[in-house]
Amino acid sequence: MDERRDILSMSRPELEAALTAMGAPKYRAGQVWRWLHVKRVQSFAEMLDIPSTLREAMDVEFCIKGLFIARRLASSLDDTVKYLYRLPDGHHVETVLMHYRHGWRLCISTQVGCKMGCRFCASAIAGFVRDLTPSEMLRQIDETERDAGVSISGLVLMGIGEPLDNFDNVMRFLELLSDPEGRQMSLRHVTLSTCGIVPRIRELADRRTGLTLAVSLHSADGAHRREIMPIARRYPLEELMEACRYYFSQTGRRVTFEYAVMEGENDSPADAQALAALLRGMGSHVNLIPVNRVRERGYHATRRAAEQFQKQLERRGVNATVRRTLGADIEAACGQLRRDAEGAASQSEG
Ligand code: SAH
Repeated sequence: MDERRDILSMSRPELEAALTAMGAPKYRAGQVWRWLHVKRVQSFAEMLDIPSTLREAMDVEFCIKGLFIARRLASSLDDTVKYLYRLPDGHHVETVLMHYRHGWRLCISTQVGCKMGCRFCASAIAGFVRDLTPSEMLRQIDETERDAGVSISGLVLMGIGEPLDNFDNVMRFLELLSDPEGRQMSLRHVTLSTCGIVPRIRELADRRTGLTLAVSLHSADGAHRREIMPIARRYPLEELMEACRYYFSQTGRRVTFEYAVMEGENDSPADAQALAALLRGMGSHVNLIPVNRVRERGYHATRRAAEQFQKQLERRGVNATVRRTLGADIEAACGQLRRDAEGAASQSEG
């Protein structure tokens, strides 16, 4: 195991302190920072304006983490590309590149696996392994941009994992991503999706990062939601909605609600009625997704079922869209490739 410090996850003040402690003048930190976050080099040897003695000393002290493409699946239906990345310790995460009207959008993972256990989700099946570091989140962007030859203009934290369950690393990642002398991505172009960890939503609101919050709702009935999303046993629906209102009041940004339509499970007229009542007066937007079929789960929905549910919502004054299904032929639904890769790995180990 590499015991060296992960330099790409360090904040600017941390980098400055570490380099000063190694005897380097203060301006070196700025140079190294630009190599890491603007040029995005893979090794210290590439840092041409840094004296070789310091480059070698850094190589002893720090590592620059990289990801490896284990699989790349390009859709033949649209421009979607799904990457299965292998991490330095051999685990896998998924990243999905999608083309939108306004450019390229990337969906990244924030954990290896997930602890949340939502009943309809493939990530719950392979289990939780560990949090991703800030550098491992940044590298999903770097590697994808390099491989696909594109520049990403939008980012969604909707891949494998629960971002608010890896709060500190995700906050650091956002800080590195938006650094004015580094990657310079506006957090207005970032959406963070959560299953509803209430205290963290409030903390995020207090930070006023400018990002868009998406909340995975999937049911407007408290008891039913507890059944399909275990997190709701800890943070009931009323508390979640209160936190969403708080987010809006603190940031001025409306919360988006994700709703995976599951036929016969959450798409009845009564479900539409409950959802309309829950969102009344919030002016919020609902994203409907026909549930992706996961082999081990029985849930299913056609696009038509989602469109019918949308009509029911609109009749009740709720603003809803059915999300475009991208990469339908490459299992763009998150967690499925990783589950297969890790499953194969544990079979060959066993
Ligand atoms: N943990 C975060 C982000 C990752 S999941 C969250 O829960 O929001 C990203 C989105 O995909 C969530 O809205 C999640 O509920 C949804 N999702 C999970 N499994 C799905 C499936 N089989 N079909 C459609 N959406 C699914």
